[in-house]
Amino acid sequence: AYVITDACLDIMDRSCLTQCPVDCIRQGERMLYINPDDCIDCGACEAVCPQSAIFFDEELPAAQAAYRKVNAEFFAGD
Ligand code: SF4
Repeated sequence: AYVITDACLDIMDRSCLTQCPVDCIRQGERMLYINPDDCIDCGACEAVCPQSAIFFDEELPAAQAAYRKVNAEFFAGD
């Protein structure tokens, strides 16, 4: 799954929202999150993010590795 990282914090450009073909991106209080259970790895969101905040999980920079869990936990209980 793709993962949204800290470059989205307090920016929330939202370009990704309109691109996602499976509507698996949600807005929280300070950033957007991708539901890893629904993401089909198309990469459309990554391509349009002006913050370059989105990464394929296997390509996450080490400094942003924690965001894999942060994105997943936003949807915990759904
Ligand atoms: Fe949606 Fe594709 Fe981004 Fe996954 S990679 S969140 S399916 S736009």
